[in-house]
Amino acid sequence: MDSPRLVFALIGAICLAVFAACTVEKAKPSKVLPALPPEAGRWTAEESVGRDPYWSNRVAATLDGYRGRIPRRFAEFHPTTFRRLETASNEVALTFDACGGTYGSGFNAPLVDFLEADRVPATIFVSWRWVTNGNLGNFRRLATNGLFQVENHGLTHRPCAVSPREIYRIPSTPDLAAAVMEIAGNAALLERLTGRRTSFFRSGTAYYDDVAMDLAASLGHRVAGWDVLSGDVGGGQTAQAIAGRVLRACKPGSVVIMHLNQPSWNAAPATRIIVETLRSRGVRFVRLDGVREGP
Ligand SMILES: [Zn+2]
Repeated sequence: MDSPRLVFALIGAICLAVFAACTVEKAKPSKVLPALPPEAGRWTAEESVGRDPYWSNRVAATLDGYRGRIPRRFAEFHPTTFRRLETASNEVALTFDACGGTYGSGFNAPLVDFLEADRVPATIFVSWRWVTNGNLGNFRRLATNGLFQVENHGLTHRPCAVSPREIYRIPSTPDLAAAVMEIAGNAALLERLTGRRTSFFRSGTAYYDDVAMDLAASLGHRVAGWDVLSGDVGGGQTAQAIAGRVLRACKPGSVVIMHLNQPSWNAAPATRIIVETLRSRGVRFVRLDGVREGP
């Protein structure tokens, strides 16, 4: 190799190294919050609502406004459920639930590693029950990464209703006060941690009565459904089966529901297949608040 070529080769190598460094740099979290206080695990919903004038006023007004309302319908979907993006573009929203509880308080690190490394924007529904079952650090990781929109998956992860109901053998919130705290209590706790107010709500089990639907709106939340059910539940579902269901059902504007609290399920390899296949079809990924990945 003569010397001009050597110089060009060296310059090329330096440019490549700088480009690679920039790419790695972009994959780092883009927001920095102070460390989450360890005592946050002992915060209560009542205290968090009471110390925040916005939430204490809103909760009081909502309790007053809804007293005596009789629910007529308990269902997964209602006419006002947000199920698809309001877009004509070739965009899809991936949503992941973090549920909590005895069997639901894990963290699917390979899934989040993949979303971060491949710069896939996603919306993550977080229950306080999950945060306080050993996931404060994992919550911080999600909440401080600008890729992710953290939203409200309920204080205790129950169906949301103003009278006792049950679905999948899980009892609902039993009354108006509990339904309000299921939404506003979790919102106030998450806001206390992040400084950001949630604006989408998905209850545990995603069942609601019609009064709870209106309550969510009065408390500043749209109820987030989906039009593509991944069926990622259970370790017996292979990545190919999960991805196949999603890829067959996805259309422009689709909202997909999956989980990130179950590392033994195959959500991580399934998501890799889904993202790679949809990108090859020209799909861009978007959060529910409209933030989207680059071209
Ligand atoms: Zn859940």
